[in-house]
Amino acid sequence: MTSDNPLSAAPGEAARNAAGPLLPERLARAITLAGPIPLSQFMGAANAHYYGTRDPLGARGDFTTAPEISQMFGELIGLWMADLWDRAGRPAARYVELGPGRGTLAADALRAMARAGLEPPVDLVETSPTLRAAQAERVPRAEWHLDLVGVADDAPLLVVANEFFDALPIRQLVATAEGWRERLVACQDTLFLPVAGDRSFDMIIPPHLRDAPPGSILETSPASVAVLRGLAGRLLAQGGAALIVDYGYEGPAIGDTLQAVRGHLYANPFEAPGEADLTAHVDFATLKQAAEAEGLVVHGPVTQGAFLRALGIDARTAALARATPARAEDLAADRDRLVAPEAMGDLFKAIALTAPGWPVPAGFA
Ligand code: SAH
Repeated sequence: MTSDNPLSAAPGEAARNAAGPLLPERLARAITLAGPIPLSQFMGAANAHYYGTRDPLGARGDFTTAPEISQMFGELIGLWMADLWDRAGRPAARYVELGPGRGTLAADALRAMARAGLEPPVDLVETSPTLRAAQAERVPRAEWHLDLVGVADDAPLLVVANEFFDALPIRQLVATAEGWRERLVACQDTLFLPVAGDRSFDMIIPPHLRDAPPGSILETSPASVAVLRGLAGRLLAQGGAALIVDYGYEGPAIGDTLQAVRGHLYANPFEAPGEADLTAHVDFATLKQAAEAEGLVVHGPVTQGAFLRALGIDARTAALARATPARAEDLAADRDRLVAPEAMGDLFKAIALTAPGWPVPAGFA
């Protein structure tokens, strides 16, 4: 979402696809002409096409996210923001969301905030024309941007990004008998497949991983770090806070987390690029390090389960059940999907970034 965002060409993408060759053919031609391409380029092109051409969310789409499971998710995040804003002295502030999907989280959060006296201008950072249209139905007063650059610099920012960073392109390095190589995507006929590049990457591998067994994979996401740095620059200059919720890990980890989801089932990430959601687990340790290096204060990560419980999801479930007793069982089931360790509760994590001098956000005590 900074200008070097590999996906920033996304909005034109759908139009070009409508007119020109389909994405798999274009990728195949590029690879045939110039050789295998980095995984990050493959993933960036696939997701720009995927998100640009459909609404992938919900039971009839490819995957379901926390705000689509329950209104409680967005409402609690709205109250989290309102509480922080209140303790920061109620400054003028802007609501910013990265990758807002259908706009459900924004609508739920803004409704809850308004009840707490906070009615900020709304900036939605979204590249997909299809999803922008869905967002406009739920949050008509929003302004849309391709990246953070367009967001006004006149007030502190209250930022949320749910399941956004997992969709940004990753790069993979793979250990081979000859040392570490970048994982590239090659093409045979119409079949895409990962291959190891020729160039050595041993120089950038941490010493303890130099002798990892062949096949070991190390992931990085330069695009995620670039977005995070852009965000940090704005929070430092304007004040405010950002809440990032996503599935991921907190350690220095090794392993292949690239996955494709289509029709709620796992698929082969190299098959039918642009027709499945390609994601990778978020490396929270690296995001945290990058944010701290920029001068932000980092809170967490904590698990989504612990975060939502600390914000009072159990009391909110009970209150909604009292209001509509017929829905009590459904409400409890939705709550469990969000917080139970075997559902989203443990794999999903929340991290908060605040400008120096801002209060410690709720849920990260
Ligand atoms: N936050 C929503 C949607 C998650 S799906 C929810 O929780 O339901 C990922 C979202 O990020 C989609 O809205 C997708 O169009 C958007 N997106 C993906 N890559 C993006 C990019 N580079 N810049 C802006 N938005 C992007």
